[in-house]
Amino acid sequence: MNKAVENIRPYDVDSIRQDFPVLHQQVHGKPLVYLDNAATSQKPKAVIDSLVHYYQNDNANIHRGVHTLSERATLSYENSRKKVQCFLNAASEKEIVFTRGATEAINLVANAYAQTLKANDEVLITAMEHHSNIVPWQMLCEKTGAILKVAPINEQGELILDQFEALISKKTKFAAISHMSNALGSINPIKQLIDLLHQHDIPVLIDGAQAIPHIAVDVQALGCDFYVFSGHKLYAPTGIGALYGKLELLEKMAPYQGGGDMISVVTFDKTVYSKVPYKFEAGTPNIAGTIGLGAALDYVNSIGLDAIAAHEDSLLVYATEQAKRIDKLRIIGTAKQKGAILSFVLDGIHPHDIGTMMDHQGIAIRAGHHCAMPVMDFFAVPATARASFAMYNTHQEVDALMAGIENLIEMFG
Ligand code: PMP
Repeated sequence: MNKAVENIRPYDVDSIRQDFPVLHQQVHGKPLVYLDNAATSQKPKAVIDSLVHYYQNDNANIHRGVHTLSERATLSYENSRKKVQCFLNAASEKEIVFTRGATEAINLVANAYAQTLKANDEVLITAMEHHSNIVPWQMLCEKTGAILKVAPINEQGELILDQFEALISKKTKFAAISHMSNALGSINPIKQLIDLLHQHDIPVLIDGAQAIPHIAVDVQALGCDFYVFSGHKLYAPTGIGALYGKLELLEKMAPYQGGGDMISVVTFDKTVYSKVPYKFEAGTPNIAGTIGLGAALDYVNSIGLDAIAAHEDSLLVYATEQAKRIDKLRIIGTAKQKGAILSFVLDGIHPHDIGTMMDHQGIAIRAGHHCAMPVMDFFAVPATARASFAMYNTHQEVDALMAGIENLIEMFG
């Protein structure tokens, strides 16, 4: 588990809400009910302040400068790396590479493995992946002639484990699996899957974009080879995320991009790359975002991920119970292991109309294919409406959501 954090404050949703300035506004004359957290979460003042502080006091480019501001910026940037290492319980901070987010981290790994896979090798993913964990592997397959294999899901939106296992063969050279589905909320038994894949010496990447704000992750206990996430779903700014990779694998991998900061020597004949993780961080990075990510981790730790998860679970259970009472509502994604996401469709009302009409009631939910078109195809729906919960949501907001849905049904008849 993550390292114990001292001074965790008692869970008090009202006081947590006070930390998020954006929540205190009206939309279309109604109090904002923000339930689009799976797309991006709101930012606490501590994170916003960390950005302002950095730009007002320390702004400078990192690593290359010898002056005080550059040293301060470098220290804060590298401190955030240590915070991510602690958050994931990685063995070394060298195993943490900063990226723009989960998408870039997956592309980085796929790009490196595109240099080692060959024709007819296989890459195994699941049918519930986000496009970010499909398209980079398709691109790898196009480059190498490798074949993409997709493990199916059942009507509840759960991975069918024996069919996943049946797809593993000597040809399987890589696997990429989401920890938690953004379209369905399903949580995969990743420890079991990682162990299974490792029995066949198959490296595995876990897409933790949705899981990271809800589930304590210990990459050493999981044993995964790669774990990726985006900061912005974890109360941090957009444009910053991280790739965890086992050191021995990162060391063998080719760099993703070339440029400044990822080299130790450059001549026109040859370039010697920098060490891991800098080899993967070409160019000036998102320094402020990285510092904001560190502040977000401090904030989450001050409340405690387990307490956050318990609160969100109670919201999900309550919302699911309420939703089941609405005749015309069908929940998409009813996995036994599920995170704080409620995807649904309403008879006779297009999800986009649901999204727009809910906005008129001050309620922000998402409507669309959620970058998971194959999941929509599987459930034979063009799109779903999706409410997703975060640490600051309340049971009253679930009531507002349900009342909003009832209003819609009444309006559309
Ligand atoms: N994977 C999953 C499961 C996601 O939900 C998302 C974001 N919706 C991503 C990957 C991609 O994250 P980002 O756009 O922040 O890179």
